[in-house]
Amino acid sequence: MRVRCDKHVCQWTGTIATLEYHVKNTCRYTLICCPNKCTYNEVSVSIMRKDLEDHLKSKCPNRSHKCGYCGVEGTYVSTTTEHDQKCSKKPIPCLNKDCTLTMERGRVQDHVASECEYTIVSCKYSNIGCTEKMKRKDMKNHEDDKVHLHLSLEKINELSIDLEELKGKKAIFVNVCSFGEKKEKNVRFKPEPFFTVPNGYKMTIMVCCNGNGDGAGTHVSVFAQLLDVPYKEQLKWPFKGTVTLDLLNQLQDAGHKGVNIVFIDNEYARIGGSAWGLPTFIPHSKLSYNAAANTCYLVDDTLHFKVTVQEHNDRPWLR
Ligand SMILES: [Zn+2]
Ligand SMILES: [Zn+2]
Ligand SMILES: [Zn+2]
Ligand SMILES: [Zn+2]
Ligand SMILES: [Zn+2]
Repeated sequence: MRVRCDKHVCQWTGTIATLEYHVKNTCRYTLICCPNKCTYNEVSVSIMRKDLEDHLKSKCPNRSHKCGYCGVEGTYVSTTTEHDQKCSKKPIPCLNKDCTLTMERGRVQDHVASECEYTIVSCKYSNIGCTEKMKRKDMKNHEDDKVHLHLSLEKINELSIDLEELKGKKAIFVNVCSFGEKKEKNVRFKPEPFFTVPNGYKMTIMVCCNGNGDGAGTHVSVFAQLLDVPYKEQLKWPFKGTVTLDLLNQLQDAGHKGVNIVFIDNEYARIGGSAWGLPTFIPHSKLSYNAAANTCYLVDDTLHFKVTVQEHNDRPWLR
C-alpha cells in the first residue's frame, strides 16, 4: 500500500515502511534545527529542510564570516557587531569634528595627537612662556605674528633656567616607551638612577605600567626610592624632601598629571626603605586622547615624565 507524506504540501508517496525514514531524513518540509545552533529571541531556530542551504549561506547569524577590514574570523554576528565596534582596521572619522579625514581606527589617536590640523595645541614656545593655544593649522600664522614675543620670551627664559639650576631644582625627563608591552608583562620600569645634587642622595623612580597594590590592573603606579651610596655617612638622615612626578600632557603645556611624593621621617626616607609613592596615580582609561580636557599622555606608545626633587633642608650648608 502506498501512502502520502503527512506534510500536506509534500508530493512524496511510498510504502508505509519508508514513510518514517522519509520524514526524518529527506522530506523537504520537515523542520530541523540549524546545525550552527543559532537562536532567535533565545529560542533555537528551526528551518524547513528545503530552506537550510540558503539559511546557512546567507541568513544564519552563526555562519562563519570574516571581518571585511582586518580579516578576523568569527560568526557573522560577532564580526559585524562586537568586533566591528573595536576593529582597529575599520575606517572611522577623526575625533575632531571639523576634520574631514577618515582613517583606520587604530591610527586615529596618533593622528589627533601628532598631525590633525584641528587639534588644539599650545604654542610651540609654551615651554618658555607663550600661553596661546590654537588649532594646529593656525600655528604657522601665530609664529609669524609673534616673532618678537617669542624672542623676548627666549631671553627671559635663559635667565630663569640659570636660576633653576642654582636652586638645584633641575628637572630630569624620563620616557617610558613600549608602554603597551610593559603593561602586558607587568613590568616595573626603573630608569637610570639620579642624584638630587652632585654627591647628594641617589634616587630612582619606578613606574608600574600595569599598576601595583590598589592600582593593580587598572592604573599606572609611580614610586620613588632611595638607593645606597658609598658616602652615605656624610648625608643627613632621614632624607627630607619632595619628589615631584609630572606625567606630561603631549598636547599643551597644561593638564599635566602630577604627584608629590613627600619623604619625611619615615621608613621610606632611609636607604633600604621600600619604594614610596602612589599606586593609583592615573587610571589606564585616562591616558589616551580626551577631547574635553585636551589631554593625551600616551603618544607613540610612550609616556613622558618630568621629575624634580626639592630637598627640605633648612640648613643646606650643614649637609
Ligand atoms: Zn514529505
Ligand atoms: Zn542558523
Ligand atoms: Zn576587523
Ligand atoms: Zn583629524
Ligand atoms: Zn606663541
